[in-house]
Amino acid sequence: MAKRIPQQFEYFLVLDFEATCDDGKKIHPQEIIEFPVLKVNAKTYEVDSQFHHFVKPKHNPKLTDFCMKLTTITQEEVDAGKPFPVVFEEFDKWIQEDVGLNSKFLFVTCGDWDLKTMLPSQCDLENYQVPVYCKTWLNIKKSYAVMTGEYVKGMMPMINGLNLVHIGCLHRGLDDCRNIANILRALADQGCKFLPTMAID
Ligand code: AMP
Ligand code: MG
Ligand code: MG
Repeated sequence: MAKRIPQQFEYFLVLDFEATCDDGKKIHPQEIIEFPVLKVNAKTYEVDSQFHHFVKPKHNPKLTDFCMKLTTITQEEVDAGKPFPVVFEEFDKWIQEDVGLNSKFLFVTCGDWDLKTMLPSQCDLENYQVPVYCKTWLNIKKSYAVMTGEYVKGMMPMINGLNLVHIGCLHRGLDDCRNIANILRALADQGCKFLPTMAID
């Protein structure tokens, strides 16, 4: 805590998609099934607000056993979910009303897959443009590498390396967001400065 420094942002938007998948083979097209975002206050590192919806996949509505086991997401949860366009419109509304397009925010993800690969391909499927505000983010693994000298593959090495307690289920989106937010806070407590690591056209 003592080492925390002022950041250029008012909020960090911690995002972690879960998507349709199978063991060892690719699912085409891959679709988002869980869409969680935590709005983390960049001064207190508390969660001020959250966006969370399950998404009903259109092309492969039946989840594989592998996917349900990996993510702990049930068939009932996605069946009760809304189609992506509906969830995405609600997300845009949440950004405008709960975050504010004029406020300074930075998306934070674990890796680049969420905003570099998954969101653009999901938007392509539905003929949506990726909003400009989703085109810049921070890969928390890069912040961890700057602070420790080690670039890790997944989230667990950061949890362990920072002596944090893992909460919830690994590969469940909202739980992954909560753990990424804890990593973000722990790095902030070591004096880490958070800046964008990737931007797409
Ligand atoms: P994660 O945020 O690490 O939970 O992963 C996001 C998505 O990547 C998951 O919802 C899966 O679609 C896919 N994924 C993650 N790990 C695996 C794996 N071991 N095998 C297949 N797909 C995976
Ligand atoms: Mg992830
Ligand atoms: Mg995840």
